[in-house]
Amino acid sequence: MSNEYDVVVIGSGPAGYVAAIRCAQLGFKTACIEKWLNKEDKTVYGGTCLNVGCIPSKALLDSSHKFVEAQEHFSAHGISVGKVAIDVPAMIARKDKVVDQLTSGIKGLFTANKVEGIEGTGKVVGANKVTVTSKDGSQQELTAKHIVIAAGSVPIDIPPTPIDHETIVDSTGALEFQEVPKRLGVIGAGVIGLELGSVWARLGSQVTVLEALDDFLPVVDRQIAKESMKILSKQGLDIKMGSRVTGSKLSKGAKKTVTVEYTDKDGEQTETFDKLIVAVGRRPFTESLLDASVGVELDERGFIKVDEQCATNIPSIFAAGDVVRGPMLAHKGMEEGVMVAERLAGKKTQVNYDLVPSVIYTHPEIAWIGKNEEELKEAGVDYNVGLFPFVANGRALAANDVDGMVKLLADAKTDRILGCHIVGASAADLLQQIVIAMEFSASAEDIGLTMFSHPALSEAVHEAALAANGHAIHIGNRKRRK
Ligand code: FAD
Ligand code: NAD
Repeated sequence: MSNEYDVVVIGSGPAGYVAAIRCAQLGFKTACIEKWLNKEDKTVYGGTCLNVGCIPSKALLDSSHKFVEAQEHFSAHGISVGKVAIDVPAMIARKDKVVDQLTSGIKGLFTANKVEGIEGTGKVVGANKVTVTSKDGSQQELTAKHIVIAAGSVPIDIPPTPIDHETIVDSTGALEFQEVPKRLGVIGAGVIGLELGSVWARLGSQVTVLEALDDFLPVVDRQIAKESMKILSKQGLDIKMGSRVTGSKLSKGAKKTVTVEYTDKDGEQTETFDKLIVAVGRRPFTESLLDASVGVELDERGFIKVDEQCATNIPSIFAAGDVVRGPMLAHKGMEEGVMVAERLAGKKTQVNYDLVPSVIYTHPEIAWIGKNEEELKEAGVDYNVGLFPFVANGRALAANDVDGMVKLLADAKTDRILGCHIVGASAADLLQQIVIAMEFSASAEDIGLTMFSHPALSEAVHEAALAANGHAIHIGNRKRRK
């Protein structure tokens, strides 16, 4: 096959595979280069998201949630199951099967859309040239009218707790434990810390989360963050705020433990764990990716510099996903992948960076979109608040899953929805209704006038919208304004 392409995409995570598929759909001759090797040393597509991110973490969250359901909640429904046990290797093997199915699915999508998957490590060596080094060391050179870089991100390491992949692990290692650690330490009460901390806490680990900041989930609406902290603490996560990790010591012997040193408001502390997960953020991955002679600019934090349309400073080169500015989220990368492909085809597609939904997949889930109360106060915007607790929702009660609430914020003058913040079962799916509404500049009244199926959790969204204007039916109205 000729080595000349319209578009060469480097990386097949959500940003890269979506960009490649959309480019091919638009008629471009497209290749997608991927270097990821799985446990069997085979190249797999799908990037962090499918291999060690969104999908495997949700597989373990779902397995561990079912375990808790069986152990703690079935009896309330009159179901007795005897002693509930967990077979960790079987749970991990199921997770691996889900990953295999989805990564093979990308391969199938490439074939169906005529994207050429190329195995190896890509390097941009010219404005229109990419070299690919395969795992046996052989090299080939590709030419491309356009190059799309979607090389993603990797976990950040911190000097006090060097990863040894055994006792001290990053998020990838935390998806592979073969038994439930008795004492599990987690550094970072961010998204990964809470999700993976929850998985192992549900299965019986005694989990301590050490977080340097004083405020829990600082980007989340304060009321929702406070409620989430209460619920997660009740579930057994011991979240220690204001705890900065300063060092660690591994024990000697076959079965190692790690003693973590940290400082909090009372001074220096230590705590010993059987496993430690370091989850202090991710950084863009650009190692061996760009030949300096090409001149692609990076910002001070190592992200590839791009404009709103994901164009770099080199006209033929674009970049999308975790390797560029903005939240490190799969859906943000996917939308950027589509935008880049469509712009190459002359369309004016744009990503609405004001409406990127965020979800933390604990149980209950924590999900938000748009502005929170603190941001509106700071901006001096006059707003109404509509709140509806799940305890007043019939479907939540029927399911015995009543923790949390929906909070909707609307402009006091125009009634336009400015934000929505949910902690509750299925918050991700409930929030999406408001994401769509906000894309269409809907008002709280628009949602209030929309008919919602009964009984459904989404009625809590309906009622929160009604409550924003003091019209809630299934709860007392305490219309609250800034
Ligand atoms: P990546 O998915 O990182 O893919 C980049 C790909 O490029 C990789 O396959 C890499 O091997 C390849 N690559 C890099 N350099 C080269 C090269 N030189 N040559 C060839 N190939 C190369 N996000 C969500 O939205 N929802 C979630 O629920 C969620 N859960 C997560 C859970 C965990 C544990 C983690 C770690 C992340 C999670 N994320 C989640 C974040 C999400 O995985 C990332 O935002 C997303 O994968 C980024 O997509 P990407 O395409 O930019 O990069
Ligand atoms: P994060 O930025 O969400 O959280 C990291 C936390 O670690 C922060 O609260 C930070 O204050 C804390 N921290 C940093 N250094 C510390 C130290 N020395 N001691 C104690 N605490 C310290 O990062 P993450 O949880 O690693 O996740 C990485 C990225 O992956 C995020 O950007 C996220 O968007 C993405 N992700 C998304 C999802 C999802 O969408 N559900 C799930 C997992 C990961």
